[in-house]
Amino acid sequence: MAQVTSTKDFQRAERLQGIELSEIARISEHAARLRAQGIDVIALSTGEPDFPSPEHVVEAANRAAIEGQTRYPATAGTPALRAAIAAEVGLQTENIIVSTGAKQVLSGAMMATLNPGDEVIAVAPFWTSYADMVRLAGGIPTILSCPAEQGFKLSPDQLEAAITPRTRWLLLNTPSNPTGAVYSKMELQALGDVLKNHPQVWVISDEIYQHLSYVPFTPFVQAVPALADRTLTVNGVSKAYSMTGWRIGWGIGPAPLIKAMIAVQGQITSGACSIAQAAALEAITGPQDLLSERRNAMRARRDLVVDGLNRAGLECTVPEGAFYVFPKTPAKMPVDHEFCRYLLDEAGVALVPGRAFGMPGHMRLSFAYATESLQEGVRRLADATAKL
Ligand code: PLP
Repeated sequence: MAQVTSTKDFQRAERLQGIELSEIARISEHAARLRAQGIDVIALSTGEPDFPSPEHVVEAANRAAIEGQTRYPATAGTPALRAAIAAEVGLQTENIIVSTGAKQVLSGAMMATLNPGDEVIAVAPFWTSYADMVRLAGGIPTILSCPAEQGFKLSPDQLEAAITPRTRWLLLNTPSNPTGAVYSKMELQALGDVLKNHPQVWVISDEIYQHLSYVPFTPFVQAVPALADRTLTVNGVSKAYSMTGWRIGWGIGPAPLIKAMIAVQGQITSGACSIAQAAALEAITGPQDLLSERRNAMRARRDLVVDGLNRAGLECTVPEGAFYVFPKTPAKMPVDHEFCRYLLDEAGVALVPGRAFGMPGHMRLSFAYATESLQEGVRRLADATAKL
């Protein structure tokens, strides 16, 4: 059989222009290759907790499989899981969509609402996928740079100045990946005040790290209830319950938006895995003590890493949530991808360059790893920085 081997013979869709495997995935794969060659690499690059999925959750999945919950589930999510999520936030099941990870919720919302040329405001540094999801759906990301000096947070003036008649969404993420910034209730209200005068702009509040906040956390709709009828809240079990591989996330929003997102999902994946939904139901309705236990463990890891970075002379803002810290690169090697390459090759530590998050001159370190790996990783980082 003749094989198509060169990109010359293969036609990619125009909508894929500039869209490639994320830099995070590439770095993690590179680190895995080095490890396979026997090189000792400490990868602090991926965004998933090292804890196992809770035992009672795994048991619930086993039961679901044995009891025969193995047929196509409803496109919008199983009635039981939708009802449990709705009850938690005091809404109806028609306000809930369950998808294959929070990622599908976000991309489904873009597909369901954007026309070519519509604009989506995203706050840099942002989670790598945001901009490409917008582009894939035909939209244009409007990226607002929010450097460390402003706590990596969007200011009301910046928001006001960026809104145009084509703006459809403001995409917020609190606690943030990659900075750990958490918006206070007052900060959210100030952003809400701006949006009240722009009825065409809806809000996505990506709160996937909600249960990993080290300061009081306020959901966007609680801070700004007047905008609940144009807000999509995104959440899921991936991070808080260490269930990244189960691929269950959900969106909470106005029924017409959810209905449009269900139509998109119906043509792309159908309902999310039935067994994983049974597991997610157990996660959110079963014992919740593990949330605070794991949050406390993460906070201790954060303190260890921030202390280590400070000692190494690498300037960083103390993250208030999530499990990432986003230090500046050292003055002697300020180009982020060069410094990350140097760290990987010289010290065997994998971090992600800030450019992947729309903010060069920084790098992201994930502290969702065992204490020993973090201690060793930070030690190597300090040695390599000192050698520059
Ligand atoms: N939103 C943010 C900010 C994330 O960091 C991630 C995962 O890294 C997701 C959404 C996606 O979550 P899920 O694994 O449930 O698709």
